[in-house]
Amino acid sequence: MTHLAGKRLLTQNSELRPHGIWNWTIPAWIVTLNDGSRLNCCPNAGPCARVCYARFGTYRFRNVLSRHVANVEYVLDDPDGWAARMTDELAARRFRPTGTPRDLDHDPDDRTIADWVAAGGRAVRVHDAGDFFASWYLNLWSGIAASAPDVLFYAYTKEVEMVKAASLPANFRIVLSYGGQQDELIDRDRDRHADVFPSALELAAAGYYDQEENDLLAVTAPTNRIGIVANNLPVAIRRFSGRTMSGLVERRSD
Ligand code: SF4
Repeated sequence: MTHLAGKRLLTQNSELRPHGIWNWTIPAWIVTLNDGSRLNCCPNAGPCARVCYARFGTYRFRNVLSRHVANVEYVLDDPDGWAARMTDELAARRFRPTGTPRDLDHDPDDRTIADWVAAGGRAVRVHDAGDFFASWYLNLWSGIAASAPDVLFYAYTKEVEMVKAASLPANFRIVLSYGGQQDELIDRDRDRHADVFPSALELAAAGYYDQEENDLLAVTAPTNRIGIVANNLPVAIRRFSGRTMSGLVERRSD
């Protein structure tokens, strides 16, 4: 089977391009594959699935969804071939550091991040939608990241247990994200985590760091508490009803 022939695996959109970030995405939540089978790309999604931006709008456009399905089918059909091709792609010149330091808030004591910022390194966001649906898939990403130490790989995840048990290279950073089925495993003081707030004011009042200016702040900002202001999809606004993402979880279990 020819997967994504002639296409680059890592893409950029208008939000990520100015920040030197490339993206790899699979579908959000449960998807029907071309052979008719169903796959849950976010096995530990919880209430997040009800307000997930990737289940509405442009993500549902036929061409967008079919590319995301093709991406995950490639991983499923030929995991090692996919990982080898991703590794090859990351060896391209465009993924080398620019040599111009990034203007990015970060913890100077985190040597990996500080060196990467100083070198003007490039970044890959793993998943605009979807998640690490199996530990073997996370392991493949871990190997890919290890093969490209100049590039910073980052992701948000609901797979808290899987990620906590994994041994990841220093240039692969993962933010534990509220809204899943393993929220109780997140330690707000010790774990870098993300919560979604109805407004920037509420985010700040809760003592969280707003990553709006640059998505990379989710993994570089000198704090464990990453805040995201809720997207303005009408359906999401209605379902959030003024609550945080973690509040959705709490309300559900009342
Ligand atoms: S885990 Fe992420 S992509 Fe999946 S349903 Fe939840 S918010 Fe959407």
